[in-house]
Amino acid sequence: MELLLGKTEAEMIDLARSLGEPAYRGRQLYAAICQRRVSDFADMTELPLGLRQRLAEVTRVCETRIGRIFHSTDGTRRYLLQYGDGREAEAVFMPEERRDTICISCQIGCAVGCTFCMTAQLGLKRNMTAGEIVSQVILVLNEVYGVGIKPPHGTNLVFMGMGESFLNYAEVMAAVRLLADEKGLAIGPKRITVSTSGIVPRIEEFAREPIRPHLAISLSGTTDEQRTTLMPINRRYPLAELMRACREYPLADRERLTFEYVMLAGVNDSPADARRLVSLLNGIRAKVNLIPHNPAPELPYRASSPDRILDFQKILVEKDLPAFIRRPRGQDISAACGQLAARQQAYAGAGV
Ligand code: SF4
Repeated sequence: MELLLGKTEAEMIDLARSLGEPAYRGRQLYAAICQRRVSDFADMTELPLGLRQRLAEVTRVCETRIGRIFHSTDGTRRYLLQYGDGREAEAVFMPEERRDTICISCQIGCAVGCTFCMTAQLGLKRNMTAGEIVSQVILVLNEVYGVGIKPPHGTNLVFMGMGESFLNYAEVMAAVRLLADEKGLAIGPKRITVSTSGIVPRIEEFAREPIRPHLAISLSGTTDEQRTTLMPINRRYPLAELMRACREYPLADRERLTFEYVMLAGVNDSPADARRLVSLLNGIRAKVNLIPHNPAPELPYRASSPDRILDFQKILVEKDLPAFIRRPRGQDISAACGQLAARQQAYAGAGV
């Protein structure tokens, strides 16, 4: 059955016309789905009953549903989402005083194989469609605030859930355009961050996009040898090539490239690593997020101690490289960075 979420307004207008309806019915349909976040045709009362019935016969808004919700003591919620084919992926909602952040997935599993990440253990099952990517935001906002209720403060989106954004480039960018559309969810590109493990040709393509969110590069290593062990993608796109693409990346005024650095005890957290990181990013308008590792029995690493992370940060900051220590969110429900693995059983007791 044809799915409507993921279509642009122009495509909804074409659909309305194909059903013998005027263009404005397509615009109403688009607004109902993408602005008011309605998924039941019965609730689209601005459309005539006959059209709603015909739509229900030949289409569906989307097939994503919430399988489980896991609540953390810090307010974070992890959503296990089920897609039309029975596959599962995750999204995470993190409330903040001034704004909320939703971390979304772009693939079911991931092929990149970073050795500090639980998602890597799943391998790649498949890419997600633009509609499936956007459905995460709609379902989460509806669950937290209610259908059609505007969040009281802004929403930030980060493509840092399951998957490598730039290995599903076309669908991620189609989703970004839908998310940013003023007539839809209206989450502007400045509020969206796309993360990559360093797929150089796509970084270059992303640089030329007319609607371009912030870019975050997952780095986590300062020599090719070290980074290849942690992130095998480094074999294909080694540091020199990645840094060249970052240097050439056209930043807007006051924009910075974000570099994510997962802190692993005894692996990449020494003062020498910090100094190498400073040299590597020399000449790039950058900021660094230091991410305390979230250990799991399946992963071969330990987390750096808080003191070690603070010392590392100090070296960066002293060299005028802005560096922030990310506060882990939702650790008790396996919602923190690198923990997403669509786990249902092990934490079944934590859900509601
Ligand atoms: S860190 Fe990101 S790119 Fe690397 S395996 Fe995990 S999901 Fe994939």
